[in-house]
Amino acid sequence: MSERLQAPRGTFDVLPEQSALRAQVEEVARRVLESAGYRRIETPAFEDTDVFRRAVGASTDIVQKEMYTFEDAGGRSLTLRPEVTAPIVRAYLEHGMHKLAQPVKLWYLSSCFRYERAQAGRYRQFWQIGAEALGSDDAAVDAESILLLHTILAELGVAGMRLRIASLGTPASRAHYRELLQDHLRRHEDELAAEVRERIDLNPLRAFDSDHPGTRTVMAKAPVLMDHLDDADRDHFASVLGMLEAAHIPYEVDGTLVRGLDYYTRTVFEFTSDALGAQSGVGGGGRYDGLAEQLGGSPVCGMGWAAGVERMLLAAEHLPVPEPICDLYVAMAQGTPAERVQAFALAAEARSAGVPTQLELAGRSLKGQFKQADRCGAAYVAILGPEGIELKDMQTGAQESLDTSAAVVAHVLRGRHADA
Ligand code: AMP
Repeated sequence: MSERLQAPRGTFDVLPEQSALRAQVEEVARRVLESAGYRRIETPAFEDTDVFRRAVGASTDIVQKEMYTFEDAGGRSLTLRPEVTAPIVRAYLEHGMHKLAQPVKLWYLSSCFRYERAQAGRYRQFWQIGAEALGSDDAAVDAESILLLHTILAELGVAGMRLRIASLGTPASRAHYRELLQDHLRRHEDELAAEVRERIDLNPLRAFDSDHPGTRTVMAKAPVLMDHLDDADRDHFASVLGMLEAAHIPYEVDGTLVRGLDYYTRTVFEFTSDALGAQSGVGGGGRYDGLAEQLGGSPVCGMGWAAGVERMLLAAEHLPVPEPICDLYVAMAQGTPAERVQAFALAAEARSAGVPTQLELAGRSLKGQFKQADRCGAAYVAILGPEGIELKDMQTGAQESLDTSAAVVAHVLRGRHADA
């Protein structure tokens, strides 16, 4: 016998119960975002590799180690999207969305692919819900974007939510700071992790993300970017914080917050949850005013975030599992060919009248059919037999004889409305 195959490491099947929970996350996000004027966008699962190489940054973990890159039969280098912001900016440029009223507000629910060490809350295929507002540098865009993620997480009941926020300034203000930080790192080179040492030239800021004890000691004394912002960056940040306060959103300013992607400018933020273990990040994002130019477009400001669907589900404590709906179960007394056709027709008629209906499909005994109707949570069971149709109300136990399928459907519809 050949070996039984399994889903690839770091991936998972979304089974029906999980699927119902995920639909609730999607529904909350859709309602919150669309009521703020965001509209859904869907980009391809793969892009030209350059989209990510240029946008996410050649020195990042994502580009260096985590991308699923392949050459197609036409010899092009393609990459399964490890994130969705860069594809959205690509789409904004490609479709001339600068001609629309700005900012253009887009949201998505998309799968992402990263070759990461698989563990609880960290997968190789995972789903992100995200929101991007392109075409305005107003601080209110930043604050509104953060508020919307806060609202979604709060509505889902994410436990122990914390918001950390910082400003990364602009490439200009960062250039001077980078040199200061590089000097500091070089002075303490012996104490640093090898990986950090190798990135002093390319990406010194990532040293703040290291778990290595020696590096952490060095970073505790490192200069902090927030102390080196220019006046415009500082004003922008103060405005964002002022608006968060006006919306009663608690935050912690954390000058050591650097995010794993290079494209951020000014505001960056992250929501974490105490309910999660090592992978405590639920969602985060920031402003990316230089990204469109990196992708070969004219300058376009942007602000957005992404939140992991699986992390939100792990952190949401009391999300109820919705019951499947079945208003009518069509059973057969004897299961003769004539009854089977009649049952099939009744189920079709009931469904087209909008009644969630299930049909006996496994040749069970009448007792077995009632058991199955119970499992489905059926409100009514119609039993087709030689004498006609009996309709049983599963809640009261009351049973009635009806002449036609139309009468059955009308009765179930009436019962449903009485319940509502
Ligand atoms: P990032 O795009 O890295 O800023 O991640 C945004 C959010 O996506 C994180 O806060 C997580 O909720 C989620 N996320 C990122 N990587 C993974 C992964 N490998 N598995 C599951 N969720 C992830």
